[in-house]
Amino acid sequence: MFEPELNEQQRLMQESARKLAEERFKPGAARADREHAPPLGNIKVLAEHGFCGMGLPEAYGGSGLGVFEMVLVIEQIARACANTAMLLSGTVGASARAILQVGSEAQKRKYLPRVARGELLVAWSMSEPNAGSDVGAIATRALRDGEHYVINGAKLWCSFASLADVYLVMMRLDPTPGMKGIGALLVERDTPGFSIGRRLDLVGLRATGMAELLFDDCRVPAENLIIPAGGIGKILAVLEADRIGGNPPICLGVAGAAFDAAVRHLKERSQFGKPLADNQGLQWKLADMAIDIEAARSLLYRTAQRVDAHKNSMTDASIAKTFVNEMAIRVTNQAIQLAGASGLAEDFPFERYFRDVRGMAIGYGTTEILRNTIAREILAGRYQP
Ligand SMILES: Cc1cc2nc3c(=O)[nH]c(=O)nc-3n(C[C@H](O)[C@H](O)[C@H](O)COP(=O)(O)OP(=O)(O)OC[C@H]3O[C@@H](n4cnc5c(N)ncnc54)[C@H](O)[C@@H]3O)c2cc1C
Repeated sequence: MFEPELNEQQRLMQESARKLAEERFKPGAARADREHAPPLGNIKVLAEHGFCGMGLPEAYGGSGLGVFEMVLVIEQIARACANTAMLLSGTVGASARAILQVGSEAQKRKYLPRVARGELLVAWSMSEPNAGSDVGAIATRALRDGEHYVINGAKLWCSFASLADVYLVMMRLDPTPGMKGIGALLVERDTPGFSIGRRLDLVGLRATGMAELLFDDCRVPAENLIIPAGGIGKILAVLEADRIGGNPPICLGVAGAAFDAAVRHLKERSQFGKPLADNQGLQWKLADMAIDIEAARSLLYRTAQRVDAHKNSMTDASIAKTFVNEMAIRVTNQAIQLAGASGLAEDFPFERYFRDVRGMAIGYGTTEILRNTIAREILAGRYQP
């Protein structure tokens, strides 16, 4: 396996995450998926080991580590339980990073230390029924009323909706159409006029509490403003960094687990009087899966290191996320094929692996929208291979 240059701290973190995930999270992974039951206890365990505050500065209770360390840890957690990895990416990911990078000092002090202790989950809410890839079509609106904003509208596909304590909600703060009128407010769970709507069960990552958010004359204090109208570009820049740290390492970890399970299956099962692994045609499938995983890992690790060194370009995260997402779909799909009917049965993990990565090519920017970004940069002469 391609071994990156890891310093002592990174190597210890990677090992400790792998051991924790294997011993504590893997045994409950299938049940969490089957029962759609978020493994919240695992977040407490991760917090006790310092993983929830990884990307936050020490001043807010974190350990000041970078995106590369997040990638190393989340990959290991995802090998055992993708739902736990997704919840961890929710604590260390886009929302906390947004508060850190664009929030007021009061907002940082109020929320971030509790995020680092695993006590507070901040959900990220952008999507709406008519605003998916087209963020400029957001219709949920907030009107200023004295020292409050009054919010009306509905949000869709919000991961962690039913579990979160605070919601970073993108909405229209100004009637100016398109992106210019959009900003963001922090909404606390018990705010009058705010409620969690229908539970939304996707094909995979079923234990992440996805639901609708509903706002009916919901009044939030003006001090909860985090992005004024017209500042949405700042939030999208945060999302750009998170494209690497949250979603792709989950895909990489799950693909690694699917590969391991496929190798075991080919060695253990015999047909025509010999192990399946003795068929060269199947061996070559394993070789192709390994090539795919290693290429994805190299690209992801290098991109994460470039993000930490502030050397990344607009295209880096888009290229890495697209490749890693599609690699994971290919590898987990191939693992199903290698396992035959067992690959589709709930008693085996193969079908869950496939389901858990399938949506990742849609969430955090679809692979088509990311290709639009890559193509735009190529044609503008800002990309050199
Ligand atoms: C696992 C998962 C977790 C998610 N978590 C969250 C969350 O926490 N918070 C949140 O706000 N949202 C979340 N989402 C929603 C996600 O952000 C949206 O699904 C995504 O932005 C795409 O929007 P859409 O589903 O409405 O698809 P659409 O935008 O309707 O797109 C449909 C298809 O058309 C393509 N398409 C659209 N426009 C173009 C174009 N201009 N050029 C080429 N192709 C185009 C898309 O790529 C896609 O293939 C999550 C989604 C998933 C799958």
